[in-house]
Amino acid sequence: MVYLLMSYTHIEMSRKKVSDEIQAEVIFKSNRECVVCDTHKRGDHIHHIDGDNSNNEFENLAFLCFDCHSEATMQRSLKKKLTPKAIIKFRDHKYQVIATERKNSLKTFNSPINGLSTEDLLRISTNAIIIIEIEKLKEEYFSADWAGRSNIISKLQKFSDHTDFRVAVDVYKFLTHAADLTRGGMTSDIAGSIFSLVIDFFPYSENKEDSDKTIELAKQCSNIAFSLVYDAIIYLKNYEIVMFGLSILKFIYLRGKRQKIQQLVDRVNETYREIEQTLLRPEMDDLGDALQLINEFRTHIDETNLSFPPISDNLMKLLYSSR
Ligand SMILES: [Zn+2]
Repeated sequence: MVYLLMSYTHIEMSRKKVSDEIQAEVIFKSNRECVVCDTHKRGDHIHHIDGDNSNNEFENLAFLCFDCHSEATMQRSLKKKLTPKAIIKFRDHKYQVIATERKNSLKTFNSPINGLSTEDLLRISTNAIIIIEIEKLKEEYFSADWAGRSNIISKLQKFSDHTDFRVAVDVYKFLTHAADLTRGGMTSDIAGSIFSLVIDFFPYSENKEDSDKTIELAKQCSNIAFSLVYDAIIYLKNYEIVMFGLSILKFIYLRGKRQKIQQLVDRVNETYREIEQTLLRPEMDDLGDALQLINEFRTHIDETNLSFPPISDNLMKLLYSSR
């Protein structure tokens, strides 16, 4: 009897929650943007299109911003524009646009292969093997629970000696997926690993021709930072994770200054703007500490080291309590 009861509860629980893998896929395919708004606005809610919260099929889900989600779930609105049919149409279009954008951005990393030296060939083969290993680790990561994930993600570290632009693309794709799931229960340990991995895999090139690639990678890193910061504030109240996310932004900013690539600096400023904009949530009255922390980081962004900025006693207390 006890057994029956337990297994019943288990089924009920697993029915309610969208699986981590599906959540990550929904958010990734939308590029963490609202699929309805046409303005690259960041999304927040995984919406159940048919209104049935236990129907967690990928096809029944769409990532929406706060406003669109309210609109879609409004019960009695005469001018309700966001019908399930409309959302599906918006979503499928969005997935297509994002997929095309990604395919095009990958072209940035394509270099022609004529006149290969043995050394080149060896490097390319090594890359291929590493990319396969990364893919394996990614699968392993998503099928583990949060306790097991910390160990798995840190295994990426061993490839960092071989990093180049192409390897970095795949590492950051993994990290993007991982960060997209922050709301599901990210730990400070994993966030710390994500921060180190972002830094260790970011290639350094003096070559002017590589700046497009650098900009593209910085874009991915800012997305990772955004996911960590936003989810950790709204869903986890874990300020240590917020600090790791903000430190990623600082890293990109300093790299932009050092390499004189203004687009990196602009990207970080844009991400700060997005964070501040998405945190304008009148229904949440406990965002003051988070906004203060963000402000501290932004104020000290020009200091050329990656240690955390000085923070108030109150924030320090919060930081320890969120551990
Ligand atoms: Zn929207």
